[in-house]
Amino acid sequence: MGVTTRTLPKCKRMALVAHDNKKADLINWAKQVSAELKCHQLYATGTTGTLLQKQIELPITCLLSGPMGGDQQLGAMIAEGKIDVLIFFWDPLDAVPHDPDVKALLRLAAVWNIPVATNQASANFLIASSSLKEESVIEVPDYQNYIANRTTN
Ligand code: PGA
Repeated sequence: MGVTTRTLPKCKRMALVAHDNKKADLINWAKQVSAELKCHQLYATGTTGTLLQKQIELPITCLLSGPMGGDQQLGAMIAEGKIDVLIFFWDPLDAVPHDPDVKALLRLAAVWNIPVATNQASANFLIASSSLKEESVIEVPDYQNYIANRTTN
């Protein structure tokens, strides 16, 4: 697979998701770093976003609830280059009905090489990164090349 680059904007389009047992952790984290989050455009799955809106006074675009399609919406946005950063506090100690969607979301974040944090420690590292405050370049699959290779002899 060939690679090309994508420039992540200074103001990142950041997705926030937490499984039920991790929602309190994500909300606490978001409160602690709300000054930093203010610089970015926030998206969240339905329940996570609605709870966050009650706790931090920042605009958040709420998608569908995760089990009802929200994870898939975010995955599609990542594939389309419409999400730059994923903060996903998933629960490693509990099963969820939409496990295939969770895997798909994490898979697409890996395919499209966006920065991902899956717990408070990694979210703290990410939020402290100078790359978050500046335009930054990431490598992404060269889709044009990919589709050309698949459609020519
Ligand atoms: P929720 O979805 O924010 O609607 O709970 C999160 C998830 O489980 O993906």
